[in-house]
Amino acid sequence: MLDFCIIGSGISGSTIAYYLKKKYSINVYDKARGVGGRSSFKRYKGKIGFDHGLQYLSPRSKEFKSFTKKLIKKKVLKHWKGNHEFLNERIKKDKKHVKLIGVKGNNDISKFLLKNIDCNFQSELSEIKRQKDYWYLKFRDNKYIYSKNLIITAPFPQAKKLTSKFVITKLFKNKVVMNSSLTVLLMTNKTGNKASSFFTNDKVLGWVSKENSKKRFKFNKDLWVLQSTFEYGKKHTDNYRNKKKFYTNVLISKFKKLTKTKIKKIYFTHIHGWKYSSNSKPLNIQSYWDKKIGLGLCGDWFGGPRLENGWLSAKDLYKKIVK
Ligand SMILES: Cc1cc2nc3c(=O)[nH]c(=O)nc-3n(C[C@H](O)[C@H](O)[C@H](O)COP(=O)(O)OP(=O)(O)OC[C@H]3O[C@@H](n4cnc5c(N)ncnc54)[C@H](O)[C@@H]3O)c2cc1C
Repeated sequence: MLDFCIIGSGISGSTIAYYLKKKYSINVYDKARGVGGRSSFKRYKGKIGFDHGLQYLSPRSKEFKSFTKKLIKKKVLKHWKGNHEFLNERIKKDKKHVKLIGVKGNNDISKFLLKNIDCNFQSELSEIKRQKDYWYLKFRDNKYIYSKNLIITAPFPQAKKLTSKFVITKLFKNKVVMNSSLTVLLMTNKTGNKASSFFTNDKVLGWVSKENSKKRFKFNKDLWVLQSTFEYGKKHTDNYRNKKKFYTNVLISKFKKLTKTKIKKIYFTHIHGWKYSSNSKPLNIQSYWDKKIGLGLCGDWFGGPRLENGWLSAKDLYKKIVK
């Protein structure tokens, strides 16, 4: 029987898996088709693709800075210098933060941490039961496994739905509001726009990135990622599926207007709604561990809206487990 079953292959799941595998037998399960969770990379062709969720890292804590430095040396991460434009004076302060990205895609950190670890994709955990001194774990496709310990790294609402029956503290009494947002992936003719990204000052479109500026590939077309504001996402993420063309056009029109980019031809678009994009209010604990029943929870939502918080939460959980 497995020592640990880990749910999620984002930064939190891959970090806890990386540390636990040194001592225990582990397996990772994710409902998605590939690695990275909200730091996924959507491949178009070969090396060409889009950072679908997470845009870049700006390490703040000493611990995470030192971890990212190691990953730069190992050529997993690199600096994204370029020409970052600020259409909003208020957030200009962001300019001073470094911007790190994956060398091939922003799921590179998770790929690196999960090297040589058994990962099962398209496997959605749907039911958990504690039996004697182990967990019975049932997946959406009726497959089931047994594991001595269970770690869940899903966003707050999903983690709560699966585990609230077993969590003995007041953890789930916390009000964790996760923001929603819409992302449009867009491929156009070469526009001549030299910017690498735009922080906007708009109520609908919050951020634009030019994927070509990340220097991962050479291509005779421009690739853009357009992200809505949380304000717009809150109103529209629940029903975007019925009006994909409409929402895609709203973000593209805003992009053209705000950045004065001249688009002659559109070759590809894709829209995605992030229901649980991130939460802005940190909790007063970094992770949850119940040794008695072998249940652990970690994720960015313990610490705030950035990938670094997921990494710190997973490390905190690991320390609790091996204490
Ligand atoms: C659009 C967008 C832009 C962002 N931009 C930035 C940024 O620029 N900088 C930054 O630092 N952060 C950014 N973030 C936040 C960052 O992406 C997250 O903080 C980080 O990726 C969270 O990692 P995690 O491992 O905690 O959660 P996740 O990445 O969400 O991983 C959880 C995993 O669990 C899986 N899962 C959930 N439920 C189940 C189940 N029942 N069974 C199996 N698998 C399950 C999911 O498929 C997922 O892969 C952004 C997020 C979004 C959505």
